[in-house]
Amino acid sequence: MSQALRALPSVEKFTQSLLPLTNLPKPLVVAFVRHEVADWRKQLLGGKEASREEIEESITTALQAFAASRLQPVINGTGVLIHTNLGRSPLGKTAASALEEIATGYSNLEFNLPEGNRGKRAGYLETALACLVDAEAATAVNNCAAALVLMLRHFTSGEKKEVIVSRSELVEIGGGFRVPEILETSGAKLVEVGATNKTHLRDYEKAIGPNTALILKVHRSNFYIEGFTAEPPVPEIAELAKKHGIPLIEDLGSGAVMHTDDLAPIDHEPTPQEALRNGIDLVCFSGDKLLGGPQSGIIAGRKDFIAGIKKEPFFRAVRCDKLILAALQESIDEYLRTQSTPKETDVPVLKALAAPLDELTTRAGAIASKLSTITKGTLSVTEATATTGGGTMPRSEIPSIALKIEPTGISLNKLSRELRIGSPAIVGYTQEDSFLLDLRTIFSWQDEMIAERLLQILA
Ligand SMILES: *Cc1c(COP(=O)(O)O)cnc(C)c1O
Repeated sequence: MSQALRALPSVEKFTQSLLPLTNLPKPLVVAFVRHEVADWRKQLLGGKEASREEIEESITTALQAFAASRLQPVINGTGVLIHTNLGRSPLGKTAASALEEIATGYSNLEFNLPEGNRGKRAGYLETALACLVDAEAATAVNNCAAALVLMLRHFTSGEKKEVIVSRSELVEIGGGFRVPEILETSGAKLVEVGATNKTHLRDYEKAIGPNTALILKVHRSNFYIEGFTAEPPVPEIAELAKKHGIPLIEDLGSGAVMHTDDLAPIDHEPTPQEALRNGIDLVCFSGDKLLGGPQSGIIAGRKDFIAGIKKEPFFRAVRCDKLILAALQESIDEYLRTQSTPKETDVPVLKALAAPLDELTTRAGAIASKLSTITKGTLSVTEATATTGGGTMPRSEIPSIALKIEPTGISLNKLSRELRIGSPAIVGYTQEDSFLLDLRTIFSWQDEMIAERLLQILA
């Protein structure tokens, strides 16, 4: 038995040799190695056979995987603009520097400068948000899911618990967000109306009763219903809700505040302005999808409702911190500044959406020309299809341009893994026997790094 344990490396010595491989803090590497060695000890005692070399190699690989799990920048070559796994929307430079400025000093977060006393948190932001989406009032919380729960809790806190939702809108967004479950968590009682494909105004009407708290609409942000379908126009639902004195709210999800279909050949994404104009009392949407701001959930609409929601104790639990407020405030101001000229937007996802094909082709050509000498495969420039992703416009296909690598001296798996675990990490996608990097989601300042990494791997 003790013979087998001789294969175990000494924690102290082995840690020393591992330190240069990553730039993780030493105590973390020591703890990691200690844990791994203890695990191996158990396995060896259990009868597993392994040499010192095998054990050291296994621990080294595990440590590298652990180091790679540390939050770090990634070059997105997937062609998915709002990639949930890659951090959704990148912030614009002005928003990011506003964040830094507030983060590294003191601020008037809750201080009234002219009066010299306690001030209102996010007062300016709320006014700017309302102005942008043409609403009586607005506010922001940590994310859209929190915004929805907050609204549901608010309107179902009394005797009335029933929330009417069409069966065609019982959406699952991913990451554990399902409309029926969100309703349940919020203490609301779901009342489903209509069928999966068709919901009529009379379905809503029949469901309204003394216990109805509100009518909820949910944007079908990640799927599409086609064929024998029908749903009543929002103004008709709004009229019905008004007649019965019931609030009508809509979870819009992605929250495009400008007409994104002006920027690329994609479906029209409903804007909060349109929803409110159609008679929705309150909308909620994400700050970090098509809006392109920091993670947040924006609520906009009727002033009395917003005021009530802000008095909820739960509002305090989901309020934004100063860093989010700083970045969101700057993002919203940027929209207000460039509203009349959407093509001048500073929002990275919108810029990427609008990037002309010839520009992407030129960039791809420049990268390809730097790689003409590679020996472990061939590289070409090809047409590709980008998508918006992140629960927006499920049918959208944006024409794009990609670098296409057909590796020969290295396997496809090894090539994509090398790119993922290198520095900077680069994520693309495979198609048949090729590896592709879509230029639409790659920033032009990253082109050089991509060329360098590819050259290192494929030279
Ligand atoms: C994305 C999405 C959400 C969740 O938004 P978060 O900001 O991630 O909380 C909620 N509803 C819909 C319809 C969505 O598309």
